[in-house]
Amino acid sequence: MGGWAELLDRIDGCRLCGLCGERQNTVPGEGDPNARLMLIGEGPGAEEDRSGRPFVGASGQLLEAMLREIGLNRRQVYICNVVKCRPPNNRTPQEQEAMACLPYLDTQIDLVKPEFLLLLGGTAGRYLLGPDARIRRDHGQWFEYRGIKAMLTYHPSAMLRDERQKIEAWRDFLALKERLNNF
Ligand code: SF4
Repeated sequence: MGGWAELLDRIDGCRLCGLCGERQNTVPGEGDPNARLMLIGEGPGAEEDRSGRPFVGASGQLLEAMLREIGLNRRQVYICNVVKCRPPNNRTPQEQEAMACLPYLDTQIDLVKPEFLLLLGGTAGRYLLGPDARIRRDHGQWFEYRGIKAMLTYHPSAMLRDERQKIEAWRDFLALKERLNNF
């Protein structure tokens, strides 16, 4: 795949998996195309599907608040998801859907060339780190994906449901801040 224009064009017209059927909009991702930090979630929800933008609902507000606490705003990072179309009823993307969409994410990573990836939730962990990744066990630790340092943490929507996960994710964000400031 070539540059941004070709990538966005392909996502816009993509029908490679069944998620194309019910989408209102594709949600490719947004942010600084030269960001040091790239955040990768699971897939668009209802608000994202309506707006075509990632992380704009309640979980997006929490994510923005956590970014602010480590000295960043969403314009300084690049934010996207494993799948670019909304799974019905916000279900977890199926393997064939994630695998069909993954080349777009890989191209985004290659174009942004971030120094760090923050993987938000078990789905991002599974498809970028491997099927053995376990969010409870592995969050806060450093891995590599495509030669880039990658940390796994909880998805903001899980943090909203479970205060304990929010506290643990907050520790992960502080470790990330430390790494960003010393790299
Ligand atoms: S989720 Fe990805 S692979 Fe599936 S239709 Fe949307 S853009 Fe294409």
